[in-house]
Amino acid sequence: MLADYAVHAEHSRGRRHSEPAHPYRNDFQRDRDRVIHSRAFRRLEAKTQVFTRRYSDHFRNRLTHTIEVTQIARTIAAQLGLNIDLVEALALVHDVGHPPFGHAGEKALDAAMNKHGLSFDHNLHALRIVEDFEQRYAAFRGLNLTFEVREGIIKHSHDYSPNEFPELAEYLLDQRPPLEAQLIDLADEIAYSTADLDDGFESRVLSLDEILEGAPAFARSFHRAEAQYPSARRMLVFNEALKRMLDRWVGDLINNTRNRVLAAGIRNLADVRAFPNRLAGLSESVEQEREETRDFLYRALYYSPALDAEKQNAERVIRELFDFWMHKPSQLPASYHEKAQQEPLARVVCDYIAGMTDNYVSQQHGRFILGREEPAGEDRVNRRNAFQLRSPEKQ
Ligand code: MG
Repeated sequence: MLADYAVHAEHSRGRRHSEPAHPYRNDFQRDRDRVIHSRAFRRLEAKTQVFTRRYSDHFRNRLTHTIEVTQIARTIAAQLGLNIDLVEALALVHDVGHPPFGHAGEKALDAAMNKHGLSFDHNLHALRIVEDFEQRYAAFRGLNLTFEVREGIIKHSHDYSPNEFPELAEYLLDQRPPLEAQLIDLADEIAYSTADLDDGFESRVLSLDEILEGAPAFARSFHRAEAQYPSARRMLVFNEALKRMLDRWVGDLINNTRNRVLAAGIRNLADVRAFPNRLAGLSESVEQEREETRDFLYRALYYSPALDAEKQNAERVIRELFDFWMHKPSQLPASYHEKAQQEPLARVVCDYIAGMTDNYVSQQHGRFILGREEPAGEDRVNRRNAFQLRSPEKQ
């Protein structure tokens, strides 16, 4: 049951290269499937969210985070009568532009680009991935996604000014994005705020007392769960409290957005686009809870001394590799030499690094900066086999 203000697949502004309709999948379902089958999506599995793999196999990585965001976004979309296929495609693609090593990686890449008068932005990078870098089709470069998915990639988290980004003019920068895109950023924030409390506690970087003191919204949930299950194990009370907080925030987002849509007299998608503000949002009191929780996470987790050494290392790896390829572009893979004829070298190096997984960027750093030999023994045999399996396709 699609609401009148939802995006209807049959009204899509379409793809850059027209394609025949599919017999039983609509355009947004096809876009969702294209994202899932892309290389950039598979690489999310080996990209850091907050904790690197070194800590434990139980923590979120960018892929499991993405799946959580998708689940939350789908639930909200269903309740609001929005287009679930579009929401799914947008949620699955929302983090593909992130470089290796999480926020530290992003910061290091941006700093390296700033030295050349350029910058790194993960939304713009995601657009370049789906428009250009993914090569799966004989007929065109990129994934040839619909306008609405590309627009959502650009607009899910903030508005770009048309003066500053004239190259994005086709994305209707003076209008609000559809509600399907508006809710992605909120689903993302709800997903990571709750997940990072969970992983922070499990990693013991955050103690229970610290969380109870720093995140009052969680504390209220925890005390209620504790009163209900006084003899349950602490871990289970913790999970119960977290689950309730997540549920309350999602419920609030659904109700508050629905109320705002009603109060604004929104009848169709054109009204959503023309409205001066974004309509999807939490109520004032829950928004405050979310901000408190986020501030606490920044203070106690993201900037905690426990994660500092790892972050410093991540920044160093990226900085050194960036400088290396800037001075020795001949060491870039052949396909990037061609690109460097058309674009600034810094952009080409940045694109190359941003696409890497944590593992691959570390391996490249070992090879080019630390002068490490290729892996020995069994590893080498596996790599050779992998190469032999790949090479017939290349010829
Ligand atoms: Mg995210």
